[in-house]
Amino acid sequence: MQKVSEILQKPIFSKEDIVQLLKSENNDRQLVFAKAKEIKEQEIGNLVHFRGLIELSNICSKDCYYCGIRKSNKNFARYNISDEQVLKAAEFAYKENYGSLVIQAGEIESEKFTNRIEKLLQQIKKLSNNKLGITISLGEQTPEVYKNWFDAGAHRFLLRIESSNKELFEKIHPKNRNHSFERRLECLKSLKEIGYQTGTGVMIGLPFQTYEDLADDILFMRDFDIDMCGMGPFIEHPDTPLFEFKDQLMPLEKRFDLTLKMIAVLRIVMKDINIASATALQAIDPMGREKALKIGANIIMPNITPEKYRDDYSLYTNKPCTDEEPEQCKGCLDARIAISGNEIGCNEWGDSKHFKRKKL
Ligand code: SF4
Repeated sequence: MQKVSEILQKPIFSKEDIVQLLKSENNDRQLVFAKAKEIKEQEIGNLVHFRGLIELSNICSKDCYYCGIRKSNKNFARYNISDEQVLKAAEFAYKENYGSLVIQAGEIESEKFTNRIEKLLQQIKKLSNNKLGITISLGEQTPEVYKNWFDAGAHRFLLRIESSNKELFEKIHPKNRNHSFERRLECLKSLKEIGYQTGTGVMIGLPFQTYEDLADDILFMRDFDIDMCGMGPFIEHPDTPLFEFKDQLMPLEKRFDLTLKMIAVLRIVMKDINIASATALQAIDPMGREKALKIGANIIMPNITPEKYRDDYSLYTNKPCTDEEPEQCKGCLDARIAISGNEIGCNEWGDSKHFKRKKL
């Protein structure tokens, strides 16, 4: 077996190298984190950019086996925040110099939904004098819909593949046309072709998942040449089919640690992409997001959804900060980012450097 210190010197990692890095412990694990930190500082600097997160609606047409807001779960209230509330949240982000927003919702494909998002994007651009950058995470849509939203002002799109292993993908989704691995890939390709900064991501610590699967996920992201990544630990939700496998999962702390290693290895492999510090990390460790920022992540997503809706956007259990209004959330994050040794990139879009360099 090679030494981790030798692997870290290589310009390109093989799948076996990545597996070894993901399995590293003690001093070797520290070497991986130190290398990722060094690369982040060289390529990205210590600026962390905000994406004010608006959880527009928890109504979803899909039934992913891991997700708390899946269509078949009747154990919580569905909501759809009003356009007025969306615009109020956007105005808050603009006034607080967040620089960017993320709009996220359950997946709906309909003309009414398409038109609503188009109008909201135009209104947000107008109210912020085009100063707010907009990421959307609104699932699988036709290329025409993606183009329509791009033209209306969205310029980054996050569509998580969840697992790049088709077999594993099919174990965590129902087997039907509404949950197709091939369509997910087609959608990612469309987003890139249209010109979005395109992001994807995976869940870490899923039942049936191996270290080899995770290494393949990193290679998939590299080969697909993504611009951004949002990935986090799998946290089982009691109202979902995957909960049945809870006894087969690795302990939460181990899933947390493996997520940090995935972030670190991805930073080493894809030096200048944007990597989000997922809120799910904080659900396991109160300092989870800060730890991710220290070793490779550079994006954070303060929740600016009105507080009363946050508990009902429950993709996983123990979601943090559901009882804070945006103002409190902001104050807390400022301190957390300073603790992590980073600074806030106020009033900037914080676009993916990788995307910009590809365009040169
Ligand atoms: S993961 Fe997304 S698409 Fe799947 S059920 Fe949850 S909100 Fe819907």
